[in-house]
Amino acid sequence: MDSGEVQTFRAYRVQHNNARGPYKGGLRYHHDVDLDEVRSLASLMTWKTALVDVPFGGAKGGISVDATSLSERESEEITRKFVQNFRDVLGPKEDIPAPDMYTTAKTMAWIFDEYSKFEGFSPGVVTGKPIWLHGSRGREEATGRGVSIAAREAVKAHEGAHSLSGKTVVLQGFGNVGSNAAEILTRDMGAKVVAIADHLGAIQDPSGLDIPAVRRHIAEGGNLGNFKAAKQFDAKDVWKQECDILIPAAIGNVLTEETAGDVRAKYMVEAANGPCSPEGDRILRELGVEIVPDIFANAGGVTVSFFEWVQNNQQFRWTEQEINQRLERQMVDAFGSFYDISKQRNVPLRTAAFIKAIMRVTRASLNRGFA
Ligand code: NAD
Repeated sequence: MDSGEVQTFRAYRVQHNNARGPYKGGLRYHHDVDLDEVRSLASLMTWKTALVDVPFGGAKGGISVDATSLSERESEEITRKFVQNFRDVLGPKEDIPAPDMYTTAKTMAWIFDEYSKFEGFSPGVVTGKPIWLHGSRGREEATGRGVSIAAREAVKAHEGAHSLSGKTVVLQGFGNVGSNAAEILTRDMGAKVVAIADHLGAIQDPSGLDIPAVRRHIAEGGNLGNFKAAKQFDAKDVWKQECDILIPAAIGNVLTEETAGDVRAKYMVEAANGPCSPEGDRILRELGVEIVPDIFANAGGVTVSFFEWVQNNQQFRWTEQEINQRLERQMVDAFGSFYDISKQRNVPLRTAAFIKAIMRVTRASLNRGFA
């Protein structure tokens, strides 16, 4: 540590399934990281990559550390030590990490650099790298863009409308995913974001928040709690806000037995991983809320991670427009594939998404002779 002290941190990598391709999944730095959490997130990655039909399996990693207490040098040191200890199980054809909570493009650049010291130039060992260091155009906003496409497709399937014009949106979380989704939903799809909450505050405006202004305020060091151009409200009341589309885009397990009954939305698009507890999920379904499940809704990131890996392998670059068009096609096709199952079998979208994903993984395992 910067103090000269030596500290030990526990790190995990769980490789859940590679029937369809190399293991793929994020690496998070958070004090709540434990083996059970990493295991469950690794399995979600298997179903997510299968559902959006990218040729990867599922994995996840994490280091149990309070990332906010680390200096940049300490964070780099921990990252390089992680690679030194785990490099035997990582690799562009083996297991490809990506950013997750409290890891960024910079963290991915350190992983690329450290791994390449041992194995030679290997940009394909991680995705989510900086654009100027073998990253992909469009990766930064890919998850938020995918969330917006997921919301639009769900509304289109139910109401036949091709845009979200006039639809109201409430968000929890205004980080990478939440802020990009808010921008794309309002700028490109005609929706209005009427409330946003995070761990520092909550703001609302029934006529629609000025998203670029909120993003500027945060980029300049402000937070939702001191944004003066909109009305403040208690962040705990975010679930009670009336809207068409509710987007939890912060942390897991927030819509539970205690909170789900408050929801006043028609659609809930799961941008965060696992925002609903099983009980919360049941309550929302009883209320008639259409839940667009996380393994589809937040799969835009891993889809563009696949594009990044392809570009790295080919040593070639696609334009941002090409990336966005390919992402659009992949998300729309994936939605169609499980929406049809949900109609044919009369099951919720979440069940239909798992049916589709499990069928793809099972078929790959059988055809490879695993079972
Ligand atoms: P981020 O760190 O950029 O932003 C997190 C946001 O959540 C911030 O606005 C923060 O204030 C808010 N938040 C944190 N704790 C909170 C709390 N207790 N109550 C209310 N708000 C809280 O993270 P991100 O990359 O935007 O990821 C958000 C979610 O999306 C996570 O669940 C992540 O696993 C999931 N996800 C992200 C990606 C990606 O590509 N970034 C891909 C798939 C899934």
